[in-house]
Formats: sequence, C-alpha cells, structure tokens
Amino acid sequence: MAEVNPDSLFEHAREVIPGGVSSPVRAYGSVGGTPVFVSSARGPYITGVDGREYVDLVCSWGPALLGHAHPEVVAAVQAAASRGLSFGAPTAAEVELADAVRARVPAAEQVRFVSTGTEATMTAIRLARGATGRDAIVKFAGCYHGHSDALLAAAGSGVATQGLPGSAGVTQAAAADTIVVDYNDLNALEGVFAEAGDRIAAVITEAAPSNMGVVPPAPGFNAALRELTQRHGALLILDEVLTGFRVGPGGWLGLEGGYTPDLVTFGKVIGGGMPLAALGGRADLMQLLAPVGPVYQAGTLSGNPLATAAGLATLRLADAGVYDTVDRRSVELQRAVSEALSAASVPHTVNSAGSLFSVFFRAEPVRNYDEAKAQDQSAFARFFHSMLDQGVALPPSAFEAWFLSAAHDDAAMGRILQALPGAARAAAH
Ligand code: PLP
Repeated sequence: MAEVNPDSLFEHAREVIPGGVSSPVRAYGSVGGTPVFVSSARGPYITGVDGREYVDLVCSWGPALLGHAHPEVVAAVQAAASRGLSFGAPTAAEVELADAVRARVPAAEQVRFVSTGTEATMTAIRLARGATGRDAIVKFAGCYHGHSDALLAAAGSGVATQGLPGSAGVTQAAAADTIVVDYNDLNALEGVFAEAGDRIAAVITEAAPSNMGVVPPAPGFNAALRELTQRHGALLILDEVLTGFRVGPGGWLGLEGGYTPDLVTFGKVIGGGMPLAALGGRADLMQLLAPVGPVYQAGTLSGNPLATAAGLATLRLADAGVYDTVDRRSVELQRAVSEALSAASVPHTVNSAGSLFSVFFRAEPVRNYDEAKAQDQSAFARFFHSMLDQGVALPPSAFEAWFLSAAHDDAAMGRILQALPGAARAAAH
C-alpha cells in the first residue's frame, strides 16, 4: 500500500471531520501533535499510514484483549460475514453469547445486546427509572459511562482531557436529575441519600474506575454502595464496560466478589473489537424491557451477527492462560515504568485495578478525580511523545488506563522497556 504523509492526512481530515477524528481523545488534544492514522494492526502492533510500526498500549481502548486481528477471531468474523452482514432478526449465536455472559457473570441473569457501551448504560438508567418510578441518578465525578445526556456530568476521559464541565447541549433538566458525588467518598454519598434517598433511582459506578486514570475502589466501597442503595430502594448499576472480561473472566465483580449489583453493563472485550455491548441483570428487572415490559429499548444493528461472532470467539479464547499473561505483563510494565521515572526523579504514582493500570505524574496518592487532575499533564505529554518517537503508542491522555494484551510477547515488551528511560528523562524536563 502506498505510504501517506500523516500531517497532510490530518489536515485534510480536519477539513471534512470535526477535529479530524470520530471520537475526541483520538485527536491528541492534550498531548499535541499529529495522531497515528492506523492502516493495520496485528498482535501487539499497529502500523501507521506512513508505514511506521508501534507497540500498541491502547488496544482499541480495551477490546483487543487477545491482541489485534487474532486469526481465530478474524476467521469467525469472516465466516459470519459470508452468511450475511445483518438480519434484524434473532440468531442462535446471540443466545449462545448470552449463555456465555451468564456463565461468567452470574449477576447477569438475563442479557440484552446493544452496539455501544453508551447504549448499555443509557438503557440501564432508563430501566432503573422505569423500575423504581424515581427520576434522580447518582454518579461519581471522573467516572465515564458514555456520552448520553444524563451521564455527561463531570465525566472523565475525553471530557476530563478537554476540561469541560459536561457538555453544551445537555439540558438543565437532564443535568438536574444527575447528582455527582466525589469518588470513594462514602460519607458524601450517605449525605446525598439522607437528603434525597426517595428520589434516587440508581447509583451508577464504574466497577473499578479507569476513565480518570485508574482509581480503584477503596476496600469495601462497592459493597457499601450495594448496602446503601438497597436500604433506600435504589438500584446499583455496575458499569463493567471497560473491566468486564478484561481484568478476569468474571470482570471486576469476579475479582472482588461479595456483593451483587442489580444491573451490569458490558462493552469492549465482549465484542472482541466489533460494535457490541450488553446490559445484564436481575431477571425481574430485565423483564421490564420491551417487548416483555414497558421500558422501551431497540436497535437495528443490536446483536449484529459479525459482532456476535467476534465476541463469542474472543470469550472462548480468553482462557486462564490469557488472563495470567496479561496480569504478568502488567506487573512487569508497572514496575519498569516506576523504576524509570524514579531514576529520572519524576514524581509519579502508579495505580492499578487487576491488570489495568495508569501512571499519574504526581507523587501523592490518587483516590478521586480532583487528585487525578492535580497531576503534571505537561510531563505526561513529554513522556508520551518520547515513547511515540521510539515506537510505543500510549493512550494520548494522562487520564487513561494503559492496555495490554495476551499478544504482548517478549519482543514487544522489550521494545517498551527500552523506550522507558529516555521517555522518563524527557518527562523530567
Ligand atoms: N462505560 C465505561 C466504563 C467506559 O469506559 C466507556 C467507554 O470508554 C463507556 C461506558 C462507553 O462505551 P462506548 O464508548 O462503547 O459507548
């Protein structure tokens, strides 16, 4: 394939697509420069339109647990494609995928498939309101649950990077029904319930927040959310879009255990890189969804056969060996990053939740969004660009988890480790 100059492509892209991208954080807004326009990806590597190859630590923002273009996943998608791209009718494969989800996450007694994590959380909120007859929802500052109106208050990720309070275009009424509480602050949440408990339909939380960087729940925090919501007749929605099937077969719930949410949302790994996400939960609640119940939800491409095939193949291949490898690589990388930054006297904190981790450029602990924001973003930008120059693509924001895959072998890890000292020195200046 002919090589293309990324700078001119970016210039053209910005003429025809706002910011030149289909999702904001891809534009490198907080680190500057020209994004890698990807022409192909395989295993732990992505290749840009200029022919440069990078070790990829974005992994499509989570889905590529097995690495890019795993031959068996690609074959499953190709086989499905040869049978038809979309039917708008139920399929046996959807039923099989629902069974696979239930086997791994017992809290998901029934499962409804959608195309994006945004739809999954949006539907969960509607279902919670329909089930309780209450309007208000509680979310935590820095948790990102997609870009639906109600959930765009004080979100992390792209919104955090841009420093937007929420978004223009979200009505006051939509924002008024969303109560935002500091993460890991149980006292504040108890105060909110004491004041408005009978108005609250649900608390939604990332199972282990990873969109303000990784900020794990304090021990017992999620279980306390469960107890508090139950006491006040509100639902608990555990958002496992990012953690589900990534930190372990049973997601964060499988690692932590000890409590059962009412509803769970999935995305990313469940679709193996194709547009697929899901909402699962207590059967009596799920039965409130159309066509059985009064809460409407639908989608032309929901349960798309190609996406379902990719998801099924991915879950089938994600065995104990895959999770062991990703866990081991994660520990190895966390240690190496920390050593390199320490050697260059760069203040930093590494937070992890299972194999998910991120590096904050500040010395003090990070337990919530305010603490995440109080890091040196310019140090991250220098670190990021040095890594990129050396052929390692990190997530282009200081507020993102770093993603590994089971395809990150010794060669790929070697390239990352080799790049770290130089990047740490760049961050120091
Ligand atoms: N929930 C969480 C925890 C996420 O990390 C994301 C996306 O990053 C979403 C929901 C939204 O998913 P999607 O981008 O597929 O709409």
